[in-house]
Amino acid sequence: MQETLAINSDYKRSLFNSLELFRGVNPDDVQKLLARCDRRDLAEGEQLLSPHEKNEHVFVVLSGSVNVHVGSPDASAIATMESGECVGEMSIIEDRDPSAFVIGAEATHLLVIHQSILWEMVDASHAFAKNLLVVLSERVRSHNRVIANNFGELKKFERHATTDALTGLANRHAMAETFPRLIAHCVENDEPVSMMMIDIDDFKQFNDLFGHIAGDRALSAVSKILRTQFRPRDLLVRYGGDEFAVLLPAVTAEQAKVVGERVRQSVCGETGDSSDSLIQIPLRISMGVAELEAQGTLDSLIRAADKALYRAKHAGRNTVSL
Ligand code: GH3
Ligand code: MG
Repeated sequence: MQETLAINSDYKRSLFNSLELFRGVNPDDVQKLLARCDRRDLAEGEQLLSPHEKNEHVFVVLSGSVNVHVGSPDASAIATMESGECVGEMSIIEDRDPSAFVIGAEATHLLVIHQSILWEMVDASHAFAKNLLVVLSERVRSHNRVIANNFGELKKFERHATTDALTGLANRHAMAETFPRLIAHCVENDEPVSMMMIDIDDFKQFNDLFGHIAGDRALSAVSKILRTQFRPRDLLVRYGGDEFAVLLPAVTAEQAKVVGERVRQSVCGETGDSSDSLIQIPLRISMGVAELEAQGTLDSLIRAADKALYRAKHAGRNTVSL
């Protein structure tokens, strides 16, 4: 519903004192233009602006408030514009459809300035032009804040996608990113590179005997011990289930076997000596070790380490095989 704006002297005074666009503006400069503006009552939940509809007006909130929603009118509001603030100016300046949905947060009373009148106001009053610039720069700043927050959220999702929730170790997705890079680096520098596949022995039985929660705690305990056993350059991931993979740059298969033997002993010793009452028996692990062959790839290295792990299991478990 739109009707012509009736300006009485009280209204004019409050208008010029409290509205961000009219602060410091000499009423004489814009009075005639203001008289050509309309006002509009917006109900709670009523849509004022939408990205699907061209906008030709700036709306100044005289009383009440409107919510700004990005993406969908059902999304949670990214901002609320209250009495004295305005909406719609960005779409007019950019001559594009609005970037957001603007919806009445409550019964709201608006001053409606058509774009042609807005430009006349800019010509008529230096103070109005300056206020418009201030409003626009604040909008750009708040858009940047929204973008920065979204970027932070995105980073959080990425981190979650590459981190295993139970152990906090990198997962298989992370492995696909980091392992090939380290392998390429070793190949370039003419260094050996080895892989170790680690699998907990009879872990199904452990779960059956002590329960799944104890199993989870045991997996965490093993991953904590593994973290302490490798150099910062080595890449350790939870490969899946009760299996871990480690990439060891500048290490031959024979050297990796020695490292593996030390790791095997410490996992067994430290879990056997655990202060966690849920982990009541020493956990044993089997390990398969392989070194990257000439022309080898991550896949061929995984296959070779897996075969070595299979041999370790068949040799009776609790052992490291090449
Ligand atoms: P093996 O010595 O041949 O490795 O025997 P295993 O019983 O350990 O057999 P396998 O490695 O094939 O099975 C792994 C078991 O680990 C299956 C599942 O019960 C258990 N497991 C896998 N992921 C989790 C987990 O996140 N939490 C718990 N509690 N158990 C898991
Ligand atoms: Mg196992």
